[in-house]
Amino acid sequence: MTTVQNGKLEQGMDNNEAGRPESICLLGATGSIGTSSLQVLRCNPDRYQLKTVCAGRNWQRMLEIVREFKPAHAAMADPEAARQLAAAVKAEGLHCEVGAGEDAVCAAAALEHDFVIAAIVGAAGLKPAIAALGACRRMGLANKEALVMTGRLFFAKAKEHGCPILPIDSEHSAIFQALPPVCAEHLGVCDLKAAGVHKILLTGSGGPFRERPLEELPNVKPSEALCHPIWSMGPKITIDSSTMMNKGLEFIEARWLFNAGPDDIEILIHPQSVVHSMVSYIDGAVLAQLGRPDMKTPIARALAYPERVVSSVEPLDFTAMGSLTFFKPDFARYPCLKLAIEASCDGQGACVILNAVNEVAVEAFLRGRIGYLDIARLVDKMLQRGVPAGFDECSLEDILALDAAVRVQAAKLLEQEF
Ligand code: NDP
Repeated sequence: MTTVQNGKLEQGMDNNEAGRPESICLLGATGSIGTSSLQVLRCNPDRYQLKTVCAGRNWQRMLEIVREFKPAHAAMADPEAARQLAAAVKAEGLHCEVGAGEDAVCAAAALEHDFVIAAIVGAAGLKPAIAALGACRRMGLANKEALVMTGRLFFAKAKEHGCPILPIDSEHSAIFQALPPVCAEHLGVCDLKAAGVHKILLTGSGGPFRERPLEELPNVKPSEALCHPIWSMGPKITIDSSTMMNKGLEFIEARWLFNAGPDDIEILIHPQSVVHSMVSYIDGAVLAQLGRPDMKTPIARALAYPERVVSSVEPLDFTAMGSLTFFKPDFARYPCLKLAIEASCDGQGACVILNAVNEVAVEAFLRGRIGYLDIARLVDKMLQRGVPAGFDECSLEDILALDAAVRVQAAKLLEQEF
């Protein structure tokens, strides 16, 4: 049961009482997390029923999903993609209502569901995720940018609607699993000190350029940055992983999810990506969650919590595993990581700027418009301009306005100085 007691969200996370399959909404169905989520649903057909799917423009992939899972609703943000999908659905005699445009995505997200998987990439995922909080019973959050942009507001909405958030990001899922239930079930408001937590140890692979000589970094090509040594993911997060902006966004995400101060979290580079993160306790114990680098595990954990379901991921073979290594990140190699940690201390406005400029910069880098190190340079320059006076971090309008304004300014700066 989900209840609000003493002003706190109690995350009692039962499955639905009627014994029917849980209705699922998948935001970002055509993407990497979307694909992994579908694999978990495929493994558990009696337990979950895909009711709603949303995505951007890949209508051909969406058509395959509609054919296989037969959802009642589909929405594409791109109106032309929606038109193509609707025509194909009709031609094949499938029964699926197709919505067109970003408002249709939000409307589909706002239908009643037992569980919403929020996996649209970037700031585009924010409004649908907020819309979903109003009607779903539980949310699995992969779209870290939504939390980076709106932390306090996001949790306030979740509390208002009595919708527990479950982390899908693998590191946050690992921390969630290593924390005591009293913390895991009070995300956003938990008291780490009272639970005896000494530190959260947030691990990351360090990306493909961990050992690349620093003087070679200016010449890194998009194709090289898109080759992550361990994880297979969408393009934006893959570039973010190479700059470790991803770890920086995760640092901010972890601060909100686990109500953590900046000194409560330590980032460790762990190239093998076997330990997905750890929690260190005041008595000297360290609890870690280990597993293959496969997002189906944290997706299954969020979906079934507090139970476990099969995900088709094989357990680790410890006898075949080499050594596990850990070291501190070097900010000279990963300036984006430092910028993100600083932004998290400067407040919500700085986090909105960081995220928006990073999205602009990553896209420009992928188009070959700017160099690899320009990503951090652009983010840094825009952060130095500061947050506009009167910015209200609890106002969605203010956050969206700042996000939009910063994108325009960053594109202009890019034209002028890069
Ligand atoms: P992908 O790029 O693979 O997929 C993005 C999804 O978002 C696609 O379905 C895309 O649709 C959809 N989308 C894009 N724009 C819109 C829009 N305006 N409206 C509706 N849908 C839209 O990204 P990932 O799956 O890799 O990542 C998704 C999120 O999960 C990100 O926030 C990422 O940080 C997070 N995450 C991802 C992990 C991973 O392993 N991939 C791990 C942990 C977190 P279409 O393709 O049809 O345009």
